[in-house]
Amino acid sequence: MTEEERLAKNNRIREQGRKTREKRKSQICRVYRVKIDFSHLNEEQRVHLKMLFVEAKWMYNDAITFMNDHDINDYDTKIITVHGLDKDHQPVTHDLQYISSQMRQSVIQGIKYNLKSLSSKKKNHSKVGSLHYKSDYDSINLQEYHVTYRFYDETHIGIQGFDKRIKIKGANQFWNIPGLEFANAKLLNLPDGYYLAVTTYRNKGGEMKKHKPEIGIDMGIKTTITTSDGRKIKVLIEESERIKKCQRLIARRKKGSNNRYKAVKLLRKAYHRLGSRKRDIANKIVHELLEHERVYMQDENLRGWHKGLFGRTVQHSILGLVKAKLMKCERVTVLPSSAPTTKYCPNCGKFKKDIKLSDRIYNCDCGYSEDRDIHAARNMILLGKQNTCGTQGIFNDAFGEDVRRYESQDLCCSLVELGSPRFYKRG
Ligand SMILES: [Zn+2]
Repeated sequence: MTEEERLAKNNRIREQGRKTREKRKSQICRVYRVKIDFSHLNEEQRVHLKMLFVEAKWMYNDAITFMNDHDINDYDTKIITVHGLDKDHQPVTHDLQYISSQMRQSVIQGIKYNLKSLSSKKKNHSKVGSLHYKSDYDSINLQEYHVTYRFYDETHIGIQGFDKRIKIKGANQFWNIPGLEFANAKLLNLPDGYYLAVTTYRNKGGEMKKHKPEIGIDMGIKTTITTSDGRKIKVLIEESERIKKCQRLIARRKKGSNNRYKAVKLLRKAYHRLGSRKRDIANKIVHELLEHERVYMQDENLRGWHKGLFGRTVQHSILGLVKAKLMKCERVTVLPSSAPTTKYCPNCGKFKKDIKLSDRIYNCDCGYSEDRDIHAARNMILLGKQNTCGTQGIFNDAFGEDVRRYESQDLCCSLVELGSPRFYKRG
């Protein structure tokens, strides 16, 4: 290739990239995960898949060593032998046979990205370390659809370097979405198997769903989630027996031994399972809640709960996940934690000061009485609407009477803050 051809090619790639970026602005990005059906792979493919990650690790570690006295940009990705240390710390050389050229580039690209983020962190005056050697490599970027990977049909994919198709599960999540485009993918080596995480794009718009009316939700410790229509959802996931067993197993194994490594892998698998269960339940709850036109919730300080008395229960509950997922949606209004959702009486408009955590029923002097959590959830809607509409009827009525001064100040501040999109609208 002459110099001119090379430049022309680079220009073409740059132009293509610019066009794609422009197009992506009007599209929705989603990542789907499909699982590689390990039981349908032959022995050769199994070894190939495993060695991809091993070779990526070797190469990564070799590049880290290289960086000690060279610039990472000078690293030759076409290298065939890399140097490393075996488990007794003796120098060895490894031949790279399986990893393809694009995967090699993505390993080095990954290091460059990491360096970039470290340096930008350093500029922000955070304390940064350096890149370390890896003992496991778990994610290989497959940059280009049709080149490094492709879908043959709903159950088969091809990966660069594999001469046969690979059976997968789970493509039914997105297979029937019209106009879906595939971008890059990541080949993942997770504790419970190999996955392909595919990044997809599709155009915005499309079907409009009919939504149920608005809903307020209160998060608590006794009952995980209480909704304004009186439902109480309680989910707690206990740390499984298996995790405790694995931890005991690891403690008994000798440090650095192969058996300990195996036990650690078992533990990772157990935690992965627990995480999957949590995500599954969180997804179902969030899906249910987002069937409503508008969701009102409060920015509770879950981290504070972690530290206090309730730590263990909160850790195993899924509130944090639900909260994070909801806050990403633009149909969710998040009230600041200072909003008096528990204290405010919707009947007479007074604020009740002396509510203890142990009071499960809200009783007002005006005769109004309601379950504490349901009461709070309903107030979320009332207070949230005030904020979004910009009128302050309730607060104006109430401020004159029974509110302590700092509280009213608090509330005014939070109302102003709520006006800015930063606080309650995430779009
Ligand atoms: Zn009242």
